[in-house]
Amino acid sequence: MTAATPLGGSAPERPAASTAASPTATVPELIARNAEEHPHALAVTDGSTSLTYRELVDAASRLAAELAHRGVRPGSAVGLLCARSTRLVVAELAVWWAGGQVVPLDPAYPRPRIAEMTGDAGVRLTLGDKALLADAGLADDRVLVLTETGPSETGPAAGSPAAGPADRPAATPEAVALVHYTSGSTGRPKGVQVPHAAVADLATAPDSVMLGPGDRMLFHSPATFDAATFELWAPLARGAAVAVSPAERPTAEELARDVERFGVTTAFLTTALFHQLAARRSRIFGVLRTVVAGGEALAAEHAGAVLRAFPWLTLVNGYGPTEATTFATLHRVEPADCTGPVPIGRPFGGARTYVLDDGQAPVPDGTRGELWIAGTRLAVGYLGRPELTDERFRDLPGIGRAYRTGDLAVRRPDGTLEFHGRLDDQVKVRGFRIEPGEIEHALRAFPEVAEAAVVVRRAGREDAALTACLVPAEGTRPAPEALRRRLAERLPAHLVPTAWTVLDALPLTGTGKVDRRALAEDDTAPAPVREAEPATAATPLTPIQQVVAEAWSRALERPVTAPDADFFAEGGHSLLAMWVVDDLREDLGVELPLGDFLDHPTVAGQAALIERALLAADDAAADDAAPDDAAPDDTGAGAPAPAAHLLEPTR
Ligand code: ADP
Repeated sequence: MTAATPLGGSAPERPAASTAASPTATVPELIARNAEEHPHALAVTDGSTSLTYRELVDAASRLAAELAHRGVRPGSAVGLLCARSTRLVVAELAVWWAGGQVVPLDPAYPRPRIAEMTGDAGVRLTLGDKALLADAGLADDRVLVLTETGPSETGPAAGSPAAGPADRPAATPEAVALVHYTSGSTGRPKGVQVPHAAVADLATAPDSVMLGPGDRMLFHSPATFDAATFELWAPLARGAAVAVSPAERPTAEELARDVERFGVTTAFLTTALFHQLAARRSRIFGVLRTVVAGGEALAAEHAGAVLRAFPWLTLVNGYGPTEATTFATLHRVEPADCTGPVPIGRPFGGARTYVLDDGQAPVPDGTRGELWIAGTRLAVGYLGRPELTDERFRDLPGIGRAYRTGDLAVRRPDGTLEFHGRLDDQVKVRGFRIEPGEIEHALRAFPEVAEAAVVVRRAGREDAALTACLVPAEGTRPAPEALRRRLAERLPAHLVPTAWTVLDALPLTGTGKVDRRALAEDDTAPAPVREAEPATAATPLTPIQQVVAEAWSRALERPVTAPDADFFAEGGHSLLAMWVVDDLREDLGVELPLGDFLDHPTVAGQAALIERALLAADDAAADDAAPDDAAPDDTGAGAPAPAAHLLEPTR
């Protein structure tokens, strides 16, 4: 590889990397500078709205003036509940321009979760899309509806003359830029306060992923996920463009199409998604120049296969907790790395890492210890949780303020770090960070649950299952399916177990703690949460239901035969859903949005959706009176012709 490539895995020591001074400019200032130097360069597009740097800055500063008018001051927490779009980028920048902190909210989260987050963060104003704000049940006087290009519709305060847009953003490097909520072991999510200096350091570190004018970065992560910090602000701080993937939950096909149509050069993929795309040799790797995978241990097998099939691709393993702003270390993966565990690399920008023993003394290279992170990218702490902040962020002699990650690591003699798992119970499932304690807490609140332990079975694999192990309260017979539904009303989908097992007692270790390892290894219990099926004859499936059931069976790797089978109760999850949707597209020529799929989780429900889509396609074809509606799709990547012949002759 050429010397211009960053992250050269085998390069000699790069002493500047861990000592870089903290950047003095905030990201909004860097974007303002780019707008002055390259006003007409493309900053962001979502396919329907595109803004140059000048337009982005103008739109954000106008909206900032309105926010100021609505009472947003430096330090105010402002919620953001918006579909992934150009207007979301404008809104986030506008909050910063006004000096506020962004609290990203996820439209898919249940109402009580959103209320908990906005309450905890002291959010008094939430910007977003009208329907999403209404669904979240936020009071009218606490919301500001965004229009296509970002600035708000006339709200209660609009119309009165606001002060003109401020020339310069109000944010300072020390000010909190973002509050990212992450799972909390005591049952409450914790808000990680990320300062502007940390965002700017992540976005501009010269030895991180190479990005410059002409590059396009895919923005496809949920705004609540800290990967979005990298996806948005690294390109915009450096004069590159953001290509927004607008679907709420893009399918693999939609991702590939977005990468192609926008000519995306750089993308972050959660490790789990990378593994899945790698296993299927996705065409995405043929278009992208750089892929950063991160969130869980990267499998050498998948990394090696992708590098062999796409040798020009720059593959980077990104490691880091939200508390150190998305990535603390990066490793440019070379084929030679793909024989054993793939390293997580070295700290970059203003981050520093230390491998320490229990007494916080450094361990020799080659020895396992806990990984601590220090430097510019550290979070301010956990919002409103001073004890928790003091427990995790410590002042260490000779090191300064440092965050204890709870991750085990080994430093190789060349300074490269290896990841060796967790010291505590925290788990990762498909990129989501999960404290089992949070789910256990929620489960124990149900009267029919005496004890609960949540573990991951088949961790790190495609079929990893977040598993709830329950001990019933005396005299009760908890029905897992009902518990799962009740839990889903309160917790985000990634915190709802997909497999359930009811036990007489939880196994204990010699020291009297719950033996989580035994629970995680025990794979004898049935995975689904379906209630015992009635012994009546099975209801026959319609032809379309049959196709849906077959697609599920392939994804779930077990037979699905009932029209009322529930995808989640059968052990399904969003990543598997992505493949089912792609399969159905190929089998039937019908594109089911992932959101609709998840909203109609039964075989019959999905078959009905497909039927409606087929009828609509059929009618459209009849209107066009096309002589040959089975003509091949000229997009090349498109779906086969809709399978209208499968429709029941009932219409
Ligand atoms: P992110 O969203 O950046 O992954 P989270 O705060 O959700 O950050 O999760 C951080 C944890 O995820 C780390 O402490 C570590 O346990 C795990 N992790 C993140 N990236 C990697 C990686 N590349 N390899 C192994 N584990 C990782």
